[in-house]
Amino acid sequence: MRRGDNATAGQQAKRSRVNERESENRVVTGGARGTWLCIAACAAASLFGGCAGGGNPSGRPAPGVPSPSAAAWSEIGRSVEGRPIEAISLGAGPRRVLIIGGIHGDETEGTRHVDALVDDLRRDAASGETAEFTLVVIRQGNPDGAARGTRENARGVDLNRNWPARNFAPSAANGPAALSEPETRAMHGVLLDFRPGVVLVLHASHNGPFVNFDGDGGRLADAFAQAAGAGGARWRVVPSMGYPTPGSLGSWFGVDGRGPILTIEFRRGDGGDEAREALCAGVRGALRDLRRR
Ligand SMILES: [Zn+2]
Repeated sequence: MRRGDNATAGQQAKRSRVNERESENRVVTGGARGTWLCIAACAAASLFGGCAGGGNPSGRPAPGVPSPSAAAWSEIGRSVEGRPIEAISLGAGPRRVLIIGGIHGDETEGTRHVDALVDDLRRDAASGETAEFTLVVIRQGNPDGAARGTRENARGVDLNRNWPARNFAPSAANGPAALSEPETRAMHGVLLDFRPGVVLVLHASHNGPFVNFDGDGGRLADAFAQAAGAGGARWRVVPSMGYPTPGSLGSWFGVDGRGPILTIEFRRGDGGDEAREALCAGVRGALRDLRRR
């Protein structure tokens, strides 16, 4: 899958399915409803705490709300250095949303709050508030970079330049070929199996906080920014990053595939409570917007 390859998604899927390593790591879904067969059950996230903060009574389920489901983190693949890449699926509705908690390892400001976000989304799913959705969250797509404090993976490849977009450009920094990295293959496999209608990806930037979008994501970006900014820093919507992003997930899913995708850029250095609240409020705002359509 090199630059200029116009293979259909189906052809790409076939190719990816003969990739032995990816097959081993595949998350199996059961059609549009996205029923998961967990390959390796991991410890479930804490049921309490969440975006309202640990110990805050307002963050706990209201009386009468059904217990959150027992959905647990599953391994969807392994990094270059063998670290697990984990994902969780919440709900069983027909509208599929994928949230990628991190892809650049040193951009931790939003990523560190993914478990809190999952706690809140778990409660929303259990209460029926998000019944029309199946939500899949990838906790951290670049665990080696996160452990090393680097943007790239352990081989020095930028995992957000390694997707089979038409504008993929092979290089040492982007990888010798699209999907050359096991982390990208693991996330790509989830995208092919789960077939999300919407993708949200967490990043951080010195110019943050802002939301960039590709595909038909403008209205969704507005909804996220408005909700995320309600309690603190103003979030801007930025239609263009202002520089080329060959082989990015946004190029593949949003530009080539025309799917709505939000690149959510927290402000570097601001990863405290306000970032946690912005993440949870922003995602919930985006879901509210999707429900209205
Ligand atoms: Zn980034």
